[in-house]
Amino acid sequence: MTLLANRRRPQTLRLTAILLALVVGAIFAIVMLRRHDPRRNERPIVVLITIDTLRADALSLEKDGSDKTPFLAQLAQQAVVFRNAYSPSSWTVPAMASLFTSLAPQSHGVIRDLAVRRQPVLSSSFTTLAESLKQAGYVTIGLPSNPHLARELGFAQGFDHYANTKVTSAESVNDVLYAQLRKAFKNPVLDETKAHPFLWIHYMDPHVPYTPHQPWIGECAKRALINEEDLVQVEGSELIGQIQDETAPFTQRLRCTYESEVRFLDDQLRALNERLQLDRDNVLLILTADHGEEFAEHRRFGHANSLYEELLRVPLLIRWPRVLKPSRVDTPVNLLDVYPTLMALLGLPVPTASQGRSLVALMEGSSSAPQTQFFHLTRGHSEWTAIRQNEWKLIHGPGKSTQLFDLQQDPHERTNRVTDRPQVVTLLDTALMQQTAALPAPPPLDNVELPPEAQERLRQLGYGD
Ligand SMILES: [Zn+2]
Repeated sequence: MTLLANRRRPQTLRLTAILLALVVGAIFAIVMLRRHDPRRNERPIVVLITIDTLRADALSLEKDGSDKTPFLAQLAQQAVVFRNAYSPSSWTVPAMASLFTSLAPQSHGVIRDLAVRRQPVLSSSFTTLAESLKQAGYVTIGLPSNPHLARELGFAQGFDHYANTKVTSAESVNDVLYAQLRKAFKNPVLDETKAHPFLWIHYMDPHVPYTPHQPWIGECAKRALINEEDLVQVEGSELIGQIQDETAPFTQRLRCTYESEVRFLDDQLRALNERLQLDRDNVLLILTADHGEEFAEHRRFGHANSLYEELLRVPLLIRWPRVLKPSRVDTPVNLLDVYPTLMALLGLPVPTASQGRSLVALMEGSSSAPQTQFFHLTRGHSEWTAIRQNEWKLIHGPGKSTQLFDLQQDPHERTNRVTDRPQVVTLLDTALMQQTAALPAPPPLDNVELPPEAQERLRQLGYGD
């Protein structure tokens, strides 16, 4: 008995040692794997900054000495910058609804007119970005600041805290945000150890009224040879019906005031960063805009007038240090892609209805496959649709007008090529018709009357009945 037991002991010891080695090895492998892919072992603070009416060329995300947006240029050093990002439409409601649902404007259906009294409501049948993050355990805070994104219009879906839309300048947006954080976390500073916040902050500054900001307005006046005294606040009503040239003094005055707004906003974003330290490693930051703005490139001003590049091209940067290598992506992408990208980065399921695509492969450089872009605008009784495929862009406007542009040769869309490239027109037309036919129809939408103060703010912003 004793002999047998003594013989078995070394065998048992060997087995125990092997098991121990296996367990230690497995733990080591798991630790290494998690270390290799920080997406798995860190849940970042997610911050989405959207800026109303910010055209892509109004800021500089490179240290090119232009000084247009020095803070954002600094932030972009550690970000993936998409140099050809598009909005699917040219005004707030359809664009932001597309960002939040990853659906084309014709599928979410919130596309109707710009009247201030009655507005269509984003359907509660969609699972929005905020809802997905809330389901994943995030504490969701929304700060819309645009009356078109009011709670009554369905944009508060999925938000634990949704501020009112009365705030106007970036300074007050920041103050309201700090108060919201204090309310949600008993702390005005983001602290990821207590909860995982998702912040969506929407700034209104570059939207009309354009307010001149010193000292930048003075610098612009000198550059554009304009009397500084002429650079006063520009009201939304001044833009209505204006038809001008790009070089007209009126246009120059508007551009200068708009540029000073953008520069002011850059400073306010710097202040926000100083307070909340958004440049930390565990902050996944996405910065973009709902649409651009036009300054008589096609004779008109403001937005929601057409589907030209100055209205559709928006900035897009995604920054998550230690996970995303800083890079520059030239492939055209869309606001519809933001939601699936964020879900993929966080390892969360992408809603099956999503019409956008994850940009992770593009950011990692493992794919550069071009994607066709589609655009849509309804204004009153007129409808615009457009498609971009490689260098070609086809625009159908009201009254059966068709325009074809070669964006490589003609990035500012000056020369209509419809008559000399009929085959390209047919090709793009077919793709556009196929896409339109394939889009699921929206569910029946409710309409609500906005509160009187929201209606009044919309009128101040240049919208009318
Ligand atoms: Zn907008």
